[in-house]
Amino acid sequence: MAALPIPALHASHGGCWLRDADSTRTVSKGGAVMAAADTPLLILNAPLVATRLGYPDLSGLDLLELFAFVHPARFVVPTPKGLAHALDLPEPGADAEVPQLLQQAAGALLETCESEEWLEREGAWTALQSLVRMRWPWATLLTGRIAKPQRAERWLFSRLPEWEESPDHPQPRQVFLDKDAVLHRLEDLTGSGAEQRPGQRAYAADATYAFEPREKSGNPRLLLAQAGTGIGKTLGYLAPASLWSNEAGGTVWVSTYTKALQRQLRQESRRAWPERRSDGSRPVVVRKGRENYLCLLNLEDALQGGFAGRAAILAQLVARWAAYSRDGDMIGGDLPGWLGTLFRQRGITSLTDRRGECVYAGCPHYRKCFIERASRASAGADLVIANHALVMVNAARGRDVAARPTRIVFDEGHHVFDAADSTFAAALSGTETIELRRWVIGPEKASRGRRRGLSARLADIVSYDEAGSKAITAARAAAEALPGDSWMQRIVEGAPWGPLEELLAAVRATVYARDESGGQEAGYGLETEAAGLDGAFIEIAQAAREALADLRQPLIRLGVRLEALLEDPPDWLDGTGRARLEGARHSLSWRIDTLAGWEALLERLGGPADPEYVDWLAVDRSEAREYDIGIHRRWLDPMKPFAKVVLEPAHGVIMTSATLRDGDDWGKAIARSGAEHIGVMPHLTAQDSPFDYAAQAEVLIVTDVPRGDIPSLAAAYARLIEASGGGALGLFTAIRRLRAVHGRIADRLARAGLPLYAQHVDPIDTGTLVDIFRDDPAASLLGTDALRDGVDVPGHSLRLVVMEQVPWPRPSILHRARRLAGGGGSYDDTIIRARLAQAFGRLIRSKDDHGHFVVLSSAFPSRLLSAFPEGTPIRRISLEEALQRVAAHASGESDHEGENARPLF
Ligand code: SF4
Repeated sequence: MAALPIPALHASHGGCWLRDADSTRTVSKGGAVMAAADTPLLILNAPLVATRLGYPDLSGLDLLELFAFVHPARFVVPTPKGLAHALDLPEPGADAEVPQLLQQAAGALLETCESEEWLEREGAWTALQSLVRMRWPWATLLTGRIAKPQRAERWLFSRLPEWEESPDHPQPRQVFLDKDAVLHRLEDLTGSGAEQRPGQRAYAADATYAFEPREKSGNPRLLLAQAGTGIGKTLGYLAPASLWSNEAGGTVWVSTYTKALQRQLRQESRRAWPERRSDGSRPVVVRKGRENYLCLLNLEDALQGGFAGRAAILAQLVARWAAYSRDGDMIGGDLPGWLGTLFRQRGITSLTDRRGECVYAGCPHYRKCFIERASRASAGADLVIANHALVMVNAARGRDVAARPTRIVFDEGHHVFDAADSTFAAALSGTETIELRRWVIGPEKASRGRRRGLSARLADIVSYDEAGSKAITAARAAAEALPGDSWMQRIVEGAPWGPLEELLAAVRATVYARDESGGQEAGYGLETEAAGLDGAFIEIAQAAREALADLRQPLIRLGVRLEALLEDPPDWLDGTGRARLEGARHSLSWRIDTLAGWEALLERLGGPADPEYVDWLAVDRSEAREYDIGIHRRWLDPMKPFAKVVLEPAHGVIMTSATLRDGDDWGKAIARSGAEHIGVMPHLTAQDSPFDYAAQAEVLIVTDVPRGDIPSLAAAYARLIEASGGGALGLFTAIRRLRAVHGRIADRLARAGLPLYAQHVDPIDTGTLVDIFRDDPAASLLGTDALRDGVDVPGHSLRLVVMEQVPWPRPSILHRARRLAGGGGSYDDTIIRARLAQAFGRLIRSKDDHGHFVVLSSAFPSRLLSAFPEGTPIRRISLEEALQRVAAHASGESDHEGENARPLF
């Protein structure tokens, strides 16, 4: 394989390296920028290199783009090492060797295109012709290497398979599972050679409870199952679940919060079910919200001129991927998470169906649509792997009532509350209202995209049905009252237009008037209670409410009309039109509900507060830029609507997690399950972790890093990471502190061969950051909340967790209300202990894991220590002592490398 003789550039926090001719040399950042401006260089991950160089306009021949073209839908960690692994090339030993690797990798990828063995050849020639016209930097290098096929290649949209209609499924049989049979099934799943795990057996036996016939309508069999880390709960519940689906012929939904667990479930379910049944259908299906999947109509539009410049190149690469994708899932599926960030635009999201614009059977790609395929596949599946938000949305407004889940396992059950909180929230904001306006009217300016208003989507109604047409015209006129393009600018300039913009302007003025942060919160979101509002505000709010009601009325009339047309179809309504009307009716009723929620919210302002809800006004800002203004409403207890919508119709539900209850106390876990709202007393079970925490982990509470002192905090992080030789996960409660610490230590660590990555700093999506971290034992990762339990990295790559301080809840208006209702300080303590337990849970993922959990806080209250598993040694010590312990662990590990049991503590 010949390396590609084009100059290559690599930049890390440790410096820059340029290879031209046959030698590699270090260059300054300025030198690197000059070289890149002179000639297109080979680079890996242009946005990341651009950030390192402080030169946002960097462009060149990005190896990741070439990889996405040559091997669409194939996984690669977007680092030099990851690229080397994916292409079977020698791993670079140091930064200086990376440019040469880039040349070799380019050579290998180009050579693949000439090879007979190239698996992803189909479609490449046709895509390349478009990419040549778009002047994609790689196009000239590929031309001549990809042979023109003998026969014209089929277009993507004709190559994708069609889904098939399946008959309605009968309801599941009522069966009683024999516990011995469940334990046998568990043995089958774990393998006969596997060690017997008593905790897992007890867990599987208890989980059977949820799969037995329900005794009373509206009363599901609800099990709360605390499962200590490492008991093997996934197979523990899959054993009764698979047996039940087999015997009853029904579908079990397993709902997760993180993608890491979805991935794990996909793997573990292979032990219980084959990839395909004898009829070719899949017994296990991963199901996500529709906004995750590629919409083929949007893609077609993008390919045919809807996207311009770099975005058009992205569309071509996405089309390459779509032909090879397992399921069309763009967010966390087999589309590389890094692809979107290479193109610095919201290209990926605009290719999904985010705005409910789907025209269903009216779409030419309906029979090949990934979303329709996924929803049909789940109806006949034995196991559906989904996430909390989807299960709740599906239960609340799923199109097909018969396909709603009735046997549900909520894994990562400690997140159900938060997921319910977001699902049942209402927000009357600028971004929400402008979306609605566009849905009704269509885009304001001449748009390149296919976005259309209601009248274009329901063109046949407009032409043939007078009553429907009148309702659409009235809705269109009423929607003019909603905020339009540049609404934020008009509000900031004091010139709002229309009743809704006036309302948002009043909200903004009130929020700023009441800001008590004294500039402390500059650049971050601001909020104030929706209480004590003056008469002028209430008047503006009522005018806005009337405007919303004026829009809701014609939408209701249109809905009624669609209903009538579907019941008694006129001649002009063919099968396709009928399916389109059904789709429209569904999205219409969702909008009508949203409008009614907004009206109720406005109606309440000025009146007595409703104790069920917490309402507040907010201005959302990021990096000092305002991006939304609105009025928010949350349920004080979101488990109330959850219980009604999800629990009550279900027959069996398991909520399970390693951190469900607080210590030994079940009280709060029961309250947080929603059970009491439907008068159900849940069954309870708890299995302790089999890990030997006394020997595997140590909690170090560092008492001499002064609070609020960023230089000391940064120094502590750097020294701890150096002491452990990387492998550290740093958790922050505020983005600004994370950035400040990262800025101070990244270069220093890079020079020591310890790469440091960070959420909110590196232009890389969180999933990819975790992949990079997992792949490199010397790397460390800094992040905020999302990483606290989104990281599943067993083994050596994660051996140190550092928390900058006690993770106090953010003192928001919503938190204050719930704290008051939930017992004050003890409410906070429960939240903090749960957060600590989740963060600690990142450290020890298997019986061979060892590590330190460090909290840089002198004021760590003793009452929070019960967050850590019993037996874990806890020491309050100085930073120097902590460094010694971490360093001793690191050197102990290298002494014991390769051994399983390492007596470190
Ligand atoms: S059916 Fe809907 S989501 Fe699917 S491709 Fe067509 S418009 Fe997109």
